[in-house]
Amino acid sequence: MGGYVGFVGLGSMGGRMAKNLLTKNIRLTVFDNNKEKLLEFKEKGSNVCSSAAELASKCEKIFTMLPNGEDVLSLYTGKEGILETLQQNTLCVDCSTIDQATSIQLSELVQTKKASFLDAPVSGGVLGAEKATLTFMIGGDSNDIKRVEYLFELMGKNIVHCGKVGSGQVTKLCNNMLLASQMIALAEIMNMGEKLGLDPQVLTSVINSSSGRCWASDTYNPVPGVITGTPASNNFEPGFTCTLMAKDLSLAQNLSTRNKIPIPMGALAHQFYLYLLNNPNYASKDFSVIYKFFKENWKN
Ligand code: NAD
Repeated sequence: MGGYVGFVGLGSMGGRMAKNLLTKNIRLTVFDNNKEKLLEFKEKGSNVCSSAAELASKCEKIFTMLPNGEDVLSLYTGKEGILETLQQNTLCVDCSTIDQATSIQLSELVQTKKASFLDAPVSGGVLGAEKATLTFMIGGDSNDIKRVEYLFELMGKNIVHCGKVGSGQVTKLCNNMLLASQMIALAEIMNMGEKLGLDPQVLTSVINSSSGRCWASDTYNPVPGVITGTPASNNFEPGFTCTLMAKDLSLAQNLSTRNKIPIPMGALAHQFYLYLLNNPNYASKDFSVIYKFFKENWKN
């Protein structure tokens, strides 16, 4: 295996993923804008760098996990960015959820340095990152995937090759668009059922054994108290925020517009989460808070 593995972006997801590498004896080199995160990782025994360029000069495999495409692009192309010092044959793996076009652009930039690139967004959330049970949806060359498969396996349990560069992002956005539509539709019927006198536990138990069953209902139910341990049962603390869901839906909207593929349900879901995004009572809450939104706003 040899050489250092680099990890940039030690936030809610990346911090947990990097810890899983560190505790499994990977020689880790890290960088983050946030100095407190660097200190935390230094104390845990990883090498810390003062810039992305320094990290790229030392690592033959580089993982990135940043909020948005703009962040990832500037990390690569900005001052003291990765491209300044990227070594030949380095493999760059971006796990952020970003625009497909940006992943393709990054891959092309990396190739100019005779290095390679995979897009590998994840699902499973903070809990999956913590427990190393993430699903990786990967776009790129299968030989490149083989080079980092052992690292994916230390952070996740499903490693899926989705196609060429950018396919990981398309897969991730298709999944999240479906999830958002399901959550909204579920919140809508739970609100209607309750307003018409049904017990949400009874309604949920019927749905979960009937044709309306879905993950939003049987695992991540948006009604407080129906399932213990969900964000809904903990005052809608995230979880996965409305802000992040709105971001993913806007990326899906970009795909739709660019490729002229209609997504009426996804577009409607996007509008709901844009609405929540602009309301300070909901923006930083878990995306299942859409149930509370219906309950508070659709009175009889
Ligand atoms: P976060 O905001 O918690 O963490 C981002 C980290 O990146 C922070 O530590 C920040 O300091 C650092 N950072 C930002 N810009 C930087 C730069 N230019 N250089 C160095 N460090 C920089 O975000 P997160 O929740 O970990 O999400 C990361 C990505 O994972 C996003 O694309 C998100 O859509 C995706 N994702 C999140 C979840 C979730 O449940 N949170 C689930 C699946 C996928």
